[in-house]
Amino acid sequence: MGEAIFQSGGQVTVMQKIKDFLKTFFLWELLQGLRVTGKYFFARKITVQYPEEKTPQSFRFRGLHALRRYPDGTERCIACKLCEAICPARAIAIDIGEREDGSRRTTRYDIDLTKCIFCGFCEEACPVEAIVETRVFEYHGEKKDDLYYTKDMLLANGDRHEAQIAQDKALDARYR
Ligand code: SF4
Ligand code: SF4
Repeated sequence: MGEAIFQSGGQVTVMQKIKDFLKTFFLWELLQGLRVTGKYFFARKITVQYPEEKTPQSFRFRGLHALRRYPDGTERCIACKLCEAICPARAIAIDIGEREDGSRRTTRYDIDLTKCIFCGFCEEACPVEAIVETRVFEYHGEKKDDLYYTKDMLLANGDRHEAQIAQDKALDARYR
């Protein structure tokens, strides 16, 4: 019994050695590599020449933040602080004051983008669609403070990109 197993094991080893020899002799692994190269050489190219070319973006893309206004210029934000409460990175800082008509407004609304993880929770939590994440991803800072966005900067982002934001919100509304 033990001898049979030994012989069987021995045969397998010899066969494996022959296989390995033939693979080495015929450069089997090299041919396999060339097969993959050939397959992608003739396939449709998916590399884009950024920045001249860009990949399509979802209307739910989560890029640079913006604070929006209503068409009459009034700030949407009602200073409820839900976005600040839900932010898992504690990136949002809000102070509250009163408007002339007695309603609540923010006196400070800052987002530290060095902390932000772009989860989109702030946008989801906002009851008035005031804080949003735009499609903008081409921005940078040369020092840490450059990525600390104040209320004025966020409102300016909103003013600049409102048309795209409104369009994206309309597209997203179908799935809500
Ligand atoms: S995207 Fe997420 S991490 Fe960034 S500010 Fe909003 S809630 Fe915070
Ligand atoms: S941005 Fe929205 S969630 Fe945040 S404080 Fe203003 S109204 Fe509330």
